[in-house]
Amino acid sequence: MIQTLHILSLAAAVIAACPVAMAAAACAPDKLGTAREIEINGSEALSLGLQSYPRTLDLKDHEVVLTFDDGPAEPTPQILEALKRECVQATFFLIGKNAKEMPHLVKREIEEGHTVGYHSMTHPDRTLRLMSLAEAKADIDAGIEAVDMAAFGKVGEHPQPFFRFPGFADTPELLNYVHSRGMAVLGSDLWASDWRKMTPQEELKLVLERLEKEKKGIVLFHDNKPVTAKMLPDFLRALKERGYKVVHLVSGSGTTPIEEADADWKSTTAPIVEKILKAKQHEKHKKETRDKAAPEKEHEGM
Ligand SMILES: [Zn+2]
Repeated sequence: MIQTLHILSLAAAVIAACPVAMAAAACAPDKLGTAREIEINGSEALSLGLQSYPRTLDLKDHEVVLTFDDGPAEPTPQILEALKRECVQATFFLIGKNAKEMPHLVKREIEEGHTVGYHSMTHPDRTLRLMSLAEAKADIDAGIEAVDMAAFGKVGEHPQPFFRFPGFADTPELLNYVHSRGMAVLGSDLWASDWRKMTPQEELKLVLERLEKEKKGIVLFHDNKPVTAKMLPDFLRALKERGYKVVHLVSGSGTTPIEEADADWKSTTAPIVEKILKAKQHEKHKKETRDKAAPEKEHEGM
């Protein structure tokens, strides 16, 4: 009995002294695992992701970067469990006001080895593009502060060089602003369209088809979508079975490895964003005309 205890405490001491060994032991070879890290240098004024920009990360064939937007949210713990089971690290683009409401989930993301990035304070429905420059900058700044406070309890001490525009609705001025604050702008190379109404099986099929077509890339999911939380374990298993490797983004100071797009590159998001914003502006205009026509009505509700 004493000998068993002695061996156990010796094993515990060895594991405590060697966290890498512990991580390896926890991550069996049949798990997907994180294959390597890519360092992102926030001082290089980068905008990456072929759906919005003509360059992306230099990934090898069958390498993927997993990103989750709009959390922390109710399904986030389920997402974290699935990632942990497969020893996989991801990047979470957090909405400031959600981080403020659920700081424990932000801390948990960091503790479990994931990367956090910024995604504005309010994720404004009208998008940052339709705000005044001053308003949009204030929303970006407040988002950074809220995430930093939730993650580290202090603002600016651990600046994260990752920003994603809500709805991909950037502007040249806002891109400059984000770059000047020491962040790379991350778009995506493919997405799961998890904002659509669909079953986990449908989402799995769709994202795997897209991935098989592109063969690699920065993949966009939303961790506030229950459908994605339900689908994720199967997606990670499918990545393992199909020989994909997960690459984890971290902050760094070297040269970020990037790949330029082909000469015939076209933005996927620009026409979608234009269309949505046109509809929003039309709605706003219609409302203003209506309000002007019936000002008394507006007062009735006050
Ligand atoms: Zn978003």
